[in-house]
Amino acid sequence: MQGRWGGGPAKWWHGEFRGCGYRITIPRQIILQVLDESKEHLSAEDIYLKVHNIYPAIGLTTVYRTLELLINMGLVFKFDFGDGRARYELSRGAKEPSHHHHLICTKCGRIIDYTDFVDEELELIKKTEKELSKKYNFEIKNHTIQFYGLCDECSDKEK
Ligand SMILES: [Zn+2]
Ligand SMILES: [Zn+2]
Ligand SMILES: [Zn+2]
Repeated sequence: MQGRWGGGPAKWWHGEFRGCGYRITIPRQIILQVLDESKEHLSAEDIYLKVHNIYPAIGLTTVYRTLELLINMGLVFKFDFGDGRARYELSRGAKEPSHHHHLICTKCGRIIDYTDFVDEELELIKKTEKELSKKYNFEIKNHTIQFYGLCDECSDKEK
């Protein structure tokens, strides 16, 4: 398993593993790589199929278990976009800016990732995080934000 998955430049998650005391096993490395290269919000089955192509020895159970570990480490976010399948995404990416919020159409399931935040949005989040950490003595490291509604196409059809 040298080459594409074994070597290459160190990714940001290598440091996170060192910090947690977990080993970067091949399944962990490949799952992170698949998430890193994906532009979509993958379900566990999607991830399994992609990983399986590269590394056929992996089973679905390992994929689920690895995802849970990566979520606990804060490397991966798990989302429920309301279509009954959990979706996974890296908490940050190689390409900046990767931090984004979601607009989710509850009718067609379209998910819009946006990074062009409204000014008030950033201000509100910064303020809210500051107040929350004070109030609960809680160190906030990240957040996810989802807005649910109808996309332009779906709201057109409703009229
Ligand atoms: Zn944000
Ligand atoms: Zn829609
Ligand atoms: Zn997203």
